[in-house]
Amino acid sequence: MSAPSYDVVVLGAGPAGYVCAIRAAQLGLKTAVVEKEFLGGVCLNLGCIPSKALLRNAEVIRTVRGGGKEFGFETGEVRIDYSAAVRRSRQVSGRMVKGVEFLLKKNAVDVYRGAARIAAAGRVEVGRTADGAQDELAARNIVVATGAQAASLPGMTPDGSRILTYREAIVQESLPSAAVIVGGGPIGLEFATLWNAYGVPVTIVEMLPRIAPLEDEDVSAELARAFARRGIQIRAGSRVRSIAISGESATVEIESDGGTESIAGGQVLLATGFRPNSAGLGLEALGVEIEKGRIAVDARMATNVPGIWAIGDVTGKLMLAHVGTAMGIACAENIAAPGSGAALDYDFLPRAIFSQPQAASFGWTEAQAAGRGFSVQTARFPFQANGKALGLGEYAGWVKLVADGKRGTLLGAHLVGPEVTELLPELTLAHRAGLTVPEIARNVHAHPTLSETLMEAAHGLDGGYIHL
Ligand SMILES: Cc1cc2nc3c(=O)[nH]c(=O)nc-3n(C[C@H](O)[C@H](O)[C@H](O)COP(=O)(O)OP(=O)(O)OC[C@H]3O[C@@H](n4cnc5c(N)ncnc54)[C@H](O)[C@@H]3O)c2cc1C
Repeated sequence: MSAPSYDVVVLGAGPAGYVCAIRAAQLGLKTAVVEKEFLGGVCLNLGCIPSKALLRNAEVIRTVRGGGKEFGFETGEVRIDYSAAVRRSRQVSGRMVKGVEFLLKKNAVDVYRGAARIAAAGRVEVGRTADGAQDELAARNIVVATGAQAASLPGMTPDGSRILTYREAIVQESLPSAAVIVGGGPIGLEFATLWNAYGVPVTIVEMLPRIAPLEDEDVSAELARAFARRGIQIRAGSRVRSIAISGESATVEIESDGGTESIAGGQVLLATGFRPNSAGLGLEALGVEIEKGRIAVDARMATNVPGIWAIGDVTGKLMLAHVGTAMGIACAENIAAPGSGAALDYDFLPRAIFSQPQAASFGWTEAQAAGRGFSVQTARFPFQANGKALGLGEYAGWVKLVADGKRGTLLGAHLVGPEVTELLPELTLAHRAGLTVPEIARNVHAHPTLSETLMEAAHGLDGGYIHL
């Protein structure tokens, strides 16, 4: 029997791959997706979605435990069942995954379950998960969307019980007695928020001089202050030398300019970044260019080998779900009609940290913009001067705009505070549309809303803040 033949075969059904498949099918291309573990990828199953559900529990617990006096209620002893929080997050994840299954079916995308390998140009082999047999697919275009896996530190192998990656941490139904989180990036900060809200003593160890090291320095400082107020310990500028396991505890030895320190914890979470899943797919044999594990792509998402494309985390561009999704849409459009997919400017795509308070940003930091020779202007408007934030009782943080003093356009924005991840799209849209700061300031905002802080910050760059 001849192999089923497709215009597009996508390897991996994460937010990059499944979206690419749907868009390709919508554009009239006969499309299949091959997935070896779970539809929806890391994001829906073990990443973005379940973590945000857990963080919602953290918010509720923090309000119930700490907010009584401010909001005028008494609870007495609050009994915690963390396993219920995890079960809720699994249900949320499950609903989303079912939704992806439905969408693929609705768009007539064929789904193959198993590990895919490119056997030759235009030929994909699928080792079937269900019965161990093998399928072979003919593909005019192959899109690699196989994601990434947690990077481990030399000599510190995750064992799933004392030394964890996000994979175990997100599904375990018990809390660590104490946690050491290695890595002060988004995932480390989100788990720190979650476990701290549930009363777990947490220490974050970050090798670079500050947590959220890729964000504007002011953001790192504000987050560090907020975390310190909640009792989260931070060891920045510290390198992990070893992790020793003894019975129920793990001891992490760290080293900094100040000397060495041992921190005992029930569990250690390694949140030190990701390694693209580009090995073992048959790419090397075809001559696909791979740089340090990342599949190299051009602005169309094409690799150097005609007919082979790559999107999402496996390209190592900006390892975020919405970036993978945008790459997936552009890729499908470029396959259907060369040049029709929008090119992405990765520096100006949104970045988010769902810690409490949240952080959100796009574009260049103040230092990066200055380093590029712009005459930089900045304005910072605090949530303390925003009526909605005061009413919510969530007023830590601020909105900082970085603008080009000559042209009056935005070069970046850096936000810390309540629901700032929801505020960012207004600014990225303004940037995309080339709006100037006076135009942003004159976009009338409903009152009272958190989004008024954006308008106020723009006023700060254009004649002066009104409410400060
Ligand atoms: C705890 C956590 C929280 C996160 N929170 C956020 C967030 O809030 N916002 C955000 O934007 N990002 C977040 N991320 C990052 C986000 O999950 C990733 O950027 C996103 O999942 C990448 O999408 P992808 O489609 O490229 O890869 P993935 O989601 O990793 O999907 C790749 C898929 O390919 C499959 N696959 C791999 N190899 C093969 C093969 N040979 N054959 C067939 N299938 C294969 C895998 O099983 C997987 O399903 C988070 C990540 C983690 C771990």
